[in-house]
Amino acid sequence: MEFNSADISAFKNVWVFCEQRQGVMMPTTFELISEGRKLADELGVELWGILPGDDVDGIARELGGYGADKVLVYNSPLLKNYTTDAYAKILCDAVMTYKPEILLVGASNIGRDLAPRCAARLHTGLCADCTHLDVDMDGYVNFLRTGSNLDVETTRFESKLFDVRTNLKMTRPAFGGHLMATIVCPRFRPAMATVRPGVMKRRPFDAAGAERVELLHPEFSLSAEDCKTQVLDVVKAARKLVDLIGADVIVSVGRGIAKDIEGGIALAEELAEELGGVVGASRAAVDAGWISADHQVGQTGKTVHPKIYIALGISGAIQHKAGMQDSECIIAVNKNEAAPIFEIADYGIVGDLFQVVPELIAALRAEKAAR
Ligand code: FAD
Repeated sequence: MEFNSADISAFKNVWVFCEQRQGVMMPTTFELISEGRKLADELGVELWGILPGDDVDGIARELGGYGADKVLVYNSPLLKNYTTDAYAKILCDAVMTYKPEILLVGASNIGRDLAPRCAARLHTGLCADCTHLDVDMDGYVNFLRTGSNLDVETTRFESKLFDVRTNLKMTRPAFGGHLMATIVCPRFRPAMATVRPGVMKRRPFDAAGAERVELLHPEFSLSAEDCKTQVLDVVKAARKLVDLIGADVIVSVGRGIAKDIEGGIALAEELAEELGGVVGASRAAVDAGWISADHQVGQTGKTVHPKIYIALGISGAIQHKAGMQDSECIIAVNKNEAAPIFEIADYGIVGDLFQVVPELIAALRAEKAAR
């Protein structure tokens, strides 16, 4: 098979790797399909999903509901559970055959394993952990205008080496979140990006799109010899992980609970329960071992946009804000009135959380009882 990743004119269409586990599509896939639709429209090309699994036709149509034009479906018992060898072979063989211009992969544990393997094998570039993507130049400049302090009116977005206007601009936090870096892959294709779960907005489901989407079943070669590892059993962790990304209300705790750790977490849980939400945390609370890592919000944790985000004893470091600043309503409780979290809070309460939170809980209960 002839494949030359440097012959960029031979590549067309936007692809999304569609991640399923045990026949259930991962929510990130729908976010990426929605974002991929936007990019495909900007380029005037088609959006394709690529879905490896076993007996996964039933879930493939859903992808059309979020904007996919076509889905390449690969069914095999060898693809039932993720293995690097099998999935990398399917993905790379498909890329070499159909030559997509852009390939998006969710930055899940599986995506973070699969994407670099494929990028190396395909001899192309990969920008990991992106939080923003653009092809369209006006959209990108607008993103900079609203999301940075760059003077976009005097900045010249040009390069002698490549066409800035047609290349995918992949933006991700750099230097510990103090800078946002935009990366371009001008010389090789596909331009590959892993994208953080929870960052891209899912479009509303369109039943007509799900009807319309074309499912393709290309022939492929995959044998047991291609797979160096074999999954014998999948054992789920006994502990239920907190679903921060799907939550409407998050009550997060930070180092401010230090004087009574168990009491502080119990207060956050009580408040979250009153509001039908879940408990999150800053990295300081996670690193101290007060709460497990699946609760962490921020640059190296989860990116969330709930309806209500309550920060208890969290200073508002840039890396924490990176994961929650798009919440619809932010409420902060902090005893330091100069804490940076108040700069982005819709409601700020200056005070000791151990006094404020019981009062909030009592007020909520009184309100409910009065109804
Ligand atoms: P602190 O900054 O110590 O703030 C504690 C706050 O609690 C203070 O503002 C204090 O006034 C207040 N307080 C104290 N007692 C009380 C009380 N009784 N009542 C009310 N308020 C009180 N951080 C994240 O959160 N998420 C990330 O994903 C993340 N990723 C990172 C990645 C990198 C590469 C780096 C370098 C750092 C990262 N961090 C991350 C760490 C981040 O820089 C901060 O150190 C961290 O967010 C601080 O957590 P905090 O706000 O809980 O603690």
